[in-house]
Amino acid sequence: MNHWKKISLSTVLVLFVLLMSIKYIFNISISIPSSNIEFSHGDTVSKVNSEYNGKKPKNIIVFIADGMGFGHLSLALQTQQSKKAPSVWQEFDTKGWHDARSIYGPLTDSEASATAIATGTSTNFGHIGIDKDQNPLENIFEIASSHHYNTGIVTDSYIWDGTPAAFAAHIRNEDDARSILEQMAESELDLLFGELEDVGEGDVPEKDETIEILQKRFQLLERSMELPKGAKSTTPVAIIFEEDEIQDLNSSPNLLQLTKTALTYMSSQDNPFILLVESEEMDAASHNNDSKRVLNGLKSIQEALSLVLNFSKQNGETLVVFTSDHETGGLAAVSDFDNYPKMQIKWSTKDHTAAVVPLFAIGPGAEYFVNVHRNWEIGICLKKLITNDVLDE
Ligand SMILES: [Zn+2]
Repeated sequence: MNHWKKISLSTVLVLFVLLMSIKYIFNISISIPSSNIEFSHGDTVSKVNSEYNGKKPKNIIVFIADGMGFGHLSLALQTQQSKKAPSVWQEFDTKGWHDARSIYGPLTDSEASATAIATGTSTNFGHIGIDKDQNPLENIFEIASSHHYNTGIVTDSYIWDGTPAAFAAHIRNEDDARSILEQMAESELDLLFGELEDVGEGDVPEKDETIEILQKRFQLLERSMELPKGAKSTTPVAIIFEEDEIQDLNSSPNLLQLTKTALTYMSSQDNPFILLVESEEMDAASHNNDSKRVLNGLKSIQEALSLVLNFSKQNGETLVVFTSDHETGGLAAVSDFDNYPKMQIKWSTKDHTAAVVPLFAIGPGAEYFVNVHRNWEIGICLKKLITNDVLDE
């Protein structure tokens, strides 16, 4: 009797603990601190297995895949790896992550995160090239221009979108396309490739007016993307395509073609260069939980990245930093039990998440990105590499 009493007592206890843990698991709530946790940039620069250790880059390519998290990367690795060759992702010298955030905490948008990357300062949602109090922040393109670099932007999104704008403008209103375009035309930018969007709506100028603004600085190229020759070969250039014309590898133009033309232009100039390549596909597709578009977009990113990495390897003086500004969609590849071992793509939101995002680097200077914890630390590293300030040894 006692024996059974003991069993039933322990059973009750076990059941109680189980119930409590189930209750705990299903009611779990994490309070996210609203303040910005300060992480100091590491005091030491880790050595990576690279022939470039200790060398500073001549050129820098910053590749931002907007909205791409480790779920998207996992999908690329699991579905698009060739059995014959290592994937482009495995070729980087350093592979890590950063915590993309705004000044108020772990969630961010493209404007705030791209501003952090472009300026080294954390800021608020929707703020482009300005701090939380709306003071302008000097960006890495401005610093680079004053150090005799050429600067350029390639995007498969519209040219005044948050990410490119953070590298060339200082403005509170992300929808004020006219002011962003005017600031781009007044900047020292040497190259600007991308699309139009919402022409004629709100503060977005019509196509003719957009061209008029851009022509104050840039020579507008034809669809063929033929670059100016001879005496005009150093003229700043721009190409604008229609809304949503640049999509994936099935579209022409595509990000690969634009990046190829941009690299031809930038490497033909006498100066060192810093180039931003942005793909908006992961963010745009993930906001709609469009899995097919994500898979196509990943191919486009991989091809453009492959081109950039080959350029870096052949050139030997070019640092490539690949990252994202935040994750979108909370994407995961999960088991499809009805069609095992096939996978299903699942989404947890149509919005941005607080997930950490990839930060990879290759080429001279790659080791400086090993110690990055926060998005704004990327900007600090880039600034130091451009100005040749001594980084922590
Ligand atoms: Zn977004």
